[in-house]
Amino acid sequence: MIDLAKANKNLWQEVFNSKDLRYCFNCSTCISGCPASNANPPLLIRNLARMVILGLEDELLDDDTAWTCVTCSRCEEMCPMDVKPFELCLAIRKWQSENDETRIPPSIVEIYSRGYTQAVERNTEQRKALGLPEKLPTISEYPDLLDEFRKMLMQTKVIKQNDYMFMGV
Ligand code: SF4
Ligand code: SF4
Repeated sequence: MIDLAKANKNLWQEVFNSKDLRYCFNCSTCISGCPASNANPPLLIRNLARMVILGLEDELLDDDTAWTCVTCSRCEEMCPMDVKPFELCLAIRKWQSENDETRIPPSIVEIYSRGYTQAVERNTEQRKALGLPEKLPTISEYPDLLDEFRKMLMQTKVIKQNDYMFMGV
């Protein structure tokens, strides 16, 4: 049962200070093309937007689904209200990290080992026809950059406190 009496009415300003967020009318267009909506549990960016708008701070802090976003930006292009759901997703990750220093994103080992969470593989035939690489390039193809990225990651408090998770990765 959600208790709106405990809601943080300033949450939207803390997480994503954009008045456009309040224009979200829950249409689900952002979900229809979202590859992470097939994750388990699914990323339902519409629901995250609703939590932020209603000020459901505890529920938002407990919800890990924003970390499955593959940053494809499709939702951003599709949203009819220019809510910028992709940017909202990143803002939620940032807010969660700032508000819970012990937080370990479920995908952190994947991020450390290959530099991203999930590969986006689509339009491979069109890419081939255009002479592009079949798969979208990722940081994995740039070992020096990946090393730099890992060094930066190792400086974060959450990883220093949980470095046992990265042994052998
Ligand atoms: S964020 Fe945009 S696309 Fe998603 S439910 Fe809200 S208005 Fe619809
Ligand atoms: S940017 Fe993230 S939330 Fe938006 S469609 Fe892509 S995976 Fe889904």
